[in-house]
Amino acid sequence: MTALALALLLASPSVAAEARQILDQILAVDTSHGGETRVCALIKARFDQAGIESQILESAPGRGNLIARLKGSGAKKPLLLLAHLDVVPVEGQAWNTKPFEPTEKDGFLYARGVSDDKAMAAAIVAVALDLKRSGARLSRDVIIALTAGEETGGAAGARWLVEYHKELIDGEVALNEGGDLMLDEKGERVLQASLQPAEKTFQTFRLAVRGKGGHSSVPPLDNPITTLARALVKVGELRLPAHVLPLVKGMLENAALHEQGVMAQALRGAAASAPAVAPQDEEVLSKDRIFNADIRTTCVATMLQGSPQDNVLPTVAEAQVNCRILPDESIEQTQAALVKAIGDPLVELTQVSHFGVGGESPLRPDVEAAVRAAAKKIWGSEVTVLPTMSAGATDSRYLRQAGIAAYGIHVAPGTLDDQRKGFGAHGANERRPVRFLADGVRYLEEITLSLAR
Ligand SMILES: [Zn+2]
Repeated sequence: MTALALALLLASPSVAAEARQILDQILAVDTSHGGETRVCALIKARFDQAGIESQILESAPGRGNLIARLKGSGAKKPLLLLAHLDVVPVEGQAWNTKPFEPTEKDGFLYARGVSDDKAMAAAIVAVALDLKRSGARLSRDVIIALTAGEETGGAAGARWLVEYHKELIDGEVALNEGGDLMLDEKGERVLQASLQPAEKTFQTFRLAVRGKGGHSSVPPLDNPITTLARALVKVGELRLPAHVLPLVKGMLENAALHEQGVMAQALRGAAASAPAVAPQDEEVLSKDRIFNADIRTTCVATMLQGSPQDNVLPTVAEAQVNCRILPDESIEQTQAALVKAIGDPLVELTQVSHFGVGGESPLRPDVEAAVRAAAKKIWGSEVTVLPTMSAGATDSRYLRQAGIAAYGIHVAPGTLDDQRKGFGAHGANERRPVRFLADGVRYLEEITLSLAR
């Protein structure tokens, strides 16, 4: 064995160990209401020590984005590795552990952000440190971007960077969150690695009903809250038309292999009849929240507001309805469908978020090959690599709009069951199995090396 081979062999466990250290460190910083600069500073200190040049760019006080660059020969255009540092809030959720105190229990690591998206951030940092220390020769620059405010639309992070500092993150290809690493139901082996080149469009609508206000002891017949409630029931019951996109066809075929009985039959049926879905298949798939989101645009009420006090009638009752729109449907189309379903001119409906469209990057053969080779190397030939459309929105939409081909992956495997039970991203008791975290870091390093060597 050569000295280099020995060094590489010894390097891999320490990359994973370092990634875990970084992960614990950054999970302990509450970034659910801003404050990403504190995480940036922790990482910058590590980069400084390793001789990696980096800078913290604040879009607003405390809203730091960290950008670093490993120099390559310039034979190819840069590869961008991106993860967001903010997390969603925990208020109102029933956590069994302290969400900002990473806790290992029964083989899981519990903490807000462990799945979304700090495992990815920690892996990116550890891989960058390893590439620098090992003196890896790169055919292209590897840019690291750790962003603020992804969960609130990217205005503090990716969107702002694309708008004001595009030259700093301008890569040809980007790897970001948005894919998944799926374990079997027992959580013992990795079954599937998804590669996400497309995502649904995120669009929120505000529903508002106005009233005259006044004293609650003499209520009118037309309280705005009652009118709004009627509209929300209709939104809740609305099922927008289902159809199966080409990317989704592959997802359903693959899912059929892991399901049984009626569900497996419906998945196979819907894939076979794509883009159409037969009513009996649609009926079955619609009952599963994940498959339902694959085959249609969804809209769900997420926020409510009435009067500021219990003895005061509201002058306006408001709700926000968050829609996730299939890549081949428009925001206007969805708005029209909501107006029609509500069917009440007293309910005003307006767009509140303007995050652009989800978009789709062409599935590049080099990226797909890199992901397939890495997955096979780490988890063997039985792991399926699956191109997917994501129901969630990520910073990739801004990259795609800026002409950077963006692909979602994941580095912390989880089970489908965890996702369904809400232990996944944004849920209470967000968790990921500890034993696979090291694999995920290797996975990212392998993909990075095959794209940048
Ligand atoms: Zn995320």
